[in-house]
Amino acid sequence: MTFSNLDRPVQFLKGVGPTRADALARMGIGSARDLLYHLPRRYDDASTITPIANLEVGLETTVVGRVRSKGVIPTRTGLRIFQAVLEDDSGMITASWPGQPWLDRKLSKGDVLLVSGPVRFFHGRQIQPREFTTLSREEDDEMGGRIFVSYRASEEVPQWVLRRIFGTNLDKLLEWASDDEYMSESERRARGLPRLDEALSLLHRPDNLADAERGRRRLAFDELFHLQIVQAQARRKATEVEPGISHQRSNELIRPLHEALPFELTEAQARVLSEIYADMQMERRMNRLLQGDVGAGKTIVALFAMLLAAEGGYQSALMAPTEILAEQHLRKLRSVLQPLEVNVVLLTGSLKGHERSEALAAIESGSGRVIIGTHALIQDSVTFRNLGLLIVDEQHRFGVRQRMALLERYNDRPDVLVMSATPIPRSLAMAFYGDLDLSILDELPPGRKPVKTELHAPAQRESVYKFVSAQIKEGRQVYVVYPLVRESDKVDLLAATEEFERLQREIFPSFRLGLLHGQLSASQKDDTMGAFSRGDLDLLVATTVVEVGIDIPNASVMLIEHAERFGLSQLHQLRGRVGRGPTESHCILIAEGEGDALERLNIFRDTTDGFEIARADLRMRGQGDLFGSQQHGRDLVLRFSDLIADEDLLVVAQETARQLISVDPDLEHIDHKHLAELIESRYQDRLAMFGVG
Ligand code: ADP
Ligand code: MG
Repeated sequence: MTFSNLDRPVQFLKGVGPTRADALARMGIGSARDLLYHLPRRYDDASTITPIANLEVGLETTVVGRVRSKGVIPTRTGLRIFQAVLEDDSGMITASWPGQPWLDRKLSKGDVLLVSGPVRFFHGRQIQPREFTTLSREEDDEMGGRIFVSYRASEEVPQWVLRRIFGTNLDKLLEWASDDEYMSESERRARGLPRLDEALSLLHRPDNLADAERGRRRLAFDELFHLQIVQAQARRKATEVEPGISHQRSNELIRPLHEALPFELTEAQARVLSEIYADMQMERRMNRLLQGDVGAGKTIVALFAMLLAAEGGYQSALMAPTEILAEQHLRKLRSVLQPLEVNVVLLTGSLKGHERSEALAAIESGSGRVIIGTHALIQDSVTFRNLGLLIVDEQHRFGVRQRMALLERYNDRPDVLVMSATPIPRSLAMAFYGDLDLSILDELPPGRKPVKTELHAPAQRESVYKFVSAQIKEGRQVYVVYPLVRESDKVDLLAATEEFERLQREIFPSFRLGLLHGQLSASQKDDTMGAFSRGDLDLLVATTVVEVGIDIPNASVMLIEHAERFGLSQLHQLRGRVGRGPTESHCILIAEGEGDALERLNIFRDTTDGFEIARADLRMRGQGDLFGSQQHGRDLVLRFSDLIADEDLLVVAQETARQLISVDPDLEHIDHKHLAELIESRYQDRLAMFGVG
């Protein structure tokens, strides 16, 4: 590893002794490089900072001023107020912190403070800081340039100390920064990005906000590019290092299925199918993500792919995240595949005894050609005769590690197709799944009527029930979804079990109701789901177990209680359970609360476009949390990039990374050594996760 000055411990920088170095280490700053990349978390443009003389009572404001005098004032009520008189070139104002007398020890005369908060009138103008930071505490320090930057600081290393450390060391650090430069001038030009040292300088001491943004884009590109390189290496390892299966297509099964289908494939389905066929027929192993909004018709695509595998004599497996979904796939595929004499086998965790050994035997002998199951499919006790294609449905339920483990699991190197109904924006898919090739199903089957969505307060429940009754009387079926299984005394939420009993007894005594939740046994779930899908139940009370995949075209109402408890993407999945047939469907949200919570639901009510909803979710919840499960939050931590704003960078980053890895897979060329070292030092954990370290 080439030594760079940036690798030095911070302790050797001017103004940082052993004690401060320890304190910095506790903030995650160990080396000079860590310090250099400790970027401001906030920028205040001097033009938005009000001269003290102009402060108006009643307005929220930000000022920068030097402490002229200070002290703690007792009041008659016993409340102690810390006050400081702040001064800038234009005038003075008192800043007042009720109940925080301890600030007297923190702040000194001469400190320069950046303060935000409302201006009040109380014995004259006063500012009541909501937020403040000490920019400096030297009489002769400049008060700041045109932009005030503030850093994430700590109790032990306050803002002004950090700023002073940067004040003395930044020039040196920036000189050293060129050690980390890995882009040639022409590459930078082509990408429209500044030099690395320039970018860091722009971020630490920008002349204006546009400068800081220019600097950020450079670091964002680096981050995305490095991650894409790791993923490109994983992609290569999964697909190219050893050959996969080259499937042989005869059409002897594919054609009859086409003829038997009651509908035409959509253009999008035909397009992704040809991508999949092409991949499967190549010797290179397929590792592909099929992404399509709820109801876009992924199952049929999966089915054709499995038939292609079967035509060449290979088995295929379809893995679903829940037993309910596996059973549903089984029912559908059996009905289609029996006439074609393709034997379908089910393997789930709850299969026991004779049934289980029979299924295992069929899988091992090869008599089972299409195998449907849950996680149970990838356990060690399962031996396939010749697995040629593995399809993972609702892939967002599984993490990167599980996916990578899956690729290692089989000696035959079956082709892998993962399907996801989370309509994540393309940028997010590229960032999360850069190791996969992407097929997008961006068209719904024709004739779907958009689901009508309504938002109601709990007080309107009675009229909602009337509507539900009317729908059932017309022969439709209804889901009612609750956030919990059983009522808990802590939270006043309607729970599925209690509500099921109440609805059956008091509201819908003449209808047939079923109850479905995750704590039922597999056979109970299957019985209920089977009855609902045959039309033997009118109304299904459920928890979010019905969130993924369930396909019952006659169901026309999705009633969601406590809708404010659900994430937007989750609501979208739930709404996707209706509107699958030709009849008009309704999604009815009953929600409590106000403000932000309802704001989200309004967005949801007003659009049915899954991609738009995912974007809104991304904006509101942050990219790490999009999937609720946190799975991906842990898998992908982005420090500098914003997947919505930086989509253009991501596209270039992915292209460039894949191109680079195709010519120099292990980054061994002398020109790439430096890049390899950077990635190794920054993304060790990711390399390990993708198994390419
Ligand atoms: P998802 O993509 O959410 O998994 P499914 O595969 O369950 O969606 O398909 C949803 C419904 O649309 C199913 O009832 C399926 O039979 C139907 N479907 C799929 N493709 C078409 C098509 N091209 N034309 C009409 N209906 C279709
Ligand atoms: Mg599906």
